[in-house]
Amino acid sequence: MKTMNEKMFVGLTRRGFLNVAKGSAVALAVGGLTAVGKAATEHVLPALPYPSNGLEPVISANTISFHYGKHHKAYVDNLNKLIAGTQFAAMPLEKIIMAASDKTDSVAIFNNAAQAWNHAFYWQSLKPKGGGELPAALKQKIEASFGTLEACTNELTAAAVGQFGSGWAWLVLDGEKLKVVKTGNAGNPMTQGMKPLLTIDVWEHAYYLDYQNRRPDYVKAVIEKIINWKFAADNLGGS
Ligand code: FE
Repeated sequence: MKTMNEKMFVGLTRRGFLNVAKGSAVALAVGGLTAVGKAATEHVLPALPYPSNGLEPVISANTISFHYGKHHKAYVDNLNKLIAGTQFAAMPLEKIIMAASDKTDSVAIFNNAAQAWNHAFYWQSLKPKGGGELPAALKQKIEASFGTLEACTNELTAAAVGQFGSGWAWLVLDGEKLKVVKTGNAGNPMTQGMKPLLTIDVWEHAYYLDYQNRRPDYVKAVIEKIINWKFAADNLGGS
């Protein structure tokens, strides 16, 4: 299991989520275990792409220890329990999300699968010493879609701050254009046919230990200091 986890991490860090977002066979946070045993497929918690204090001072190691070590881990563990012996057991994570979306009898499976995916995507959407200059192709696409980078980050900020209750703000590719969208709870824009490029978690567990109720301060600091534009550019790829 450990070996698989390490393999997954290497795959994720090398290839990012480009392939995942394109819906290829590279499945996010899924160990495609084919070895003998009761589970044909076991979903694994992917390793963080930086040390737990790597996002300080924007996000503390304390927040990461709970957010990654408890919340994210629980989504993965719960998912494995929920899908055991069901039609979802052998599916890659994205397939589960798509198959369980909007099904009233698979709400818990959808929630845990989407939260497992969303969190792995969120960790990659951030990086130590992020923000700053954008890769040229992404900048061009942003300017074509929003007019200016500032208009894009303003929209992203408004979506993140304005999401009522728990949820996510996303930069996505929708057809030919980039868009900012927000989703509640475990929602993921892929279920609406959009391709996620980056995300910001606005559940209170993402910021409350560091910012208490000041979500706007968390969002501002994330976008200015630790957002991973390179990751978004990689996901955009040659789309
Ligand atoms: Fe979260």
